[in-house]
Amino acid sequence: MKLLKPHPLANCFPRITPEEQKELNEDIRKNGLIETIVLHEGMILDGRHRYQSCLLTNTKIATKEYQGKDPAGYVISANIKRRHLEKGQRAMIAATIANLTKGRPEIKSANLPIKQTEAAKTLGVSARSIGTAKSILSKSPTVAEQVVNGQITLSAAKKKLEEPKPKPTGFHSDIPDRIGRLIPNKILPMWQRAESEAKSAKQEVSRLMEIFKEALESNDVIYCEAYPKDNYNHLASVKGNLERAVPWSVCTKCQGATFEKCDFCKGRGFISKFLYETCVDEQTKKVIATGIANERKSSQAISSQRR
Ligand SMILES: [Zn+2]
Repeated sequence: MKLLKPHPLANCFPRITPEEQKELNEDIRKNGLIETIVLHEGMILDGRHRYQSCLLTNTKIATKEYQGKDPAGYVISANIKRRHLEKGQRAMIAATIANLTKGRPEIKSANLPIKQTEAAKTLGVSARSIGTAKSILSKSPTVAEQVVNGQITLSAAKKKLEEPKPKPTGFHSDIPDRIGRLIPNKILPMWQRAESEAKSAKQEVSRLMEIFKEALESNDVIYCEAYPKDNYNHLASVKGNLERAVPWSVCTKCQGATFEKCDFCKGRGFISKFLYETCVDEQTKKVIATGIANERKSSQAISSQRR
């Protein structure tokens, strides 16, 4: 006897779990095959699990040919009635069915009168979620299969496959420093790390300052030998020092370009507010301000041209 293969349309639906298959085996062993297996193009259109059970339990197999003109619609309605499928699963099934005719010579498109919109309607999903499902399907059939099987939701699959943003290619990022100059991409990671680490370090110090402040205010005896006042003042100056780890402007000497060898920013590409205010001469500041103003003008000109 030649073994029957499931029709590709049937394979658009998730397989039942091994436990469910076991239950089906037992049921068919006890009661025989009640629902006839439906064939189409020499393959199982509906009943691939029942067929499996019949083989496993040596049960007599009954088959009939599908007589209608809409095998896809038939398979959808048979499966939708029988099983609970989540929205994402249904969207992926619709996308898979709509995709089936592509590159599957064993299926004649004439036998697949189902369009994406019809599949969407029958399966009760929006065209938009089918669009999402289609893009997942084209990127990774494996992930698409996980969606069909309910192992991962449609939105989680979408997220998983979202391409990482292309790395910025230009010299400047679109993020300005504190004086309005765009931060070069090359120094942006260090800039952002400095900003976040300095911030959390300052928060730690503030927490300690709070302890000594309270000790002072409440005259807490447990701190009587611990110099709360001195410590509070020390910590205040520590906090002030940490402020100099916070980036303020792109280095005014190397412009964040040749920072590796720059003795002014010490290889950071940026400087603190303190350094900017105390060590950058007025002439340089003026030149930078003019540069920023010109940049704004030209970008405004570009955006008004676009309008
Ligand atoms: Zn520098």
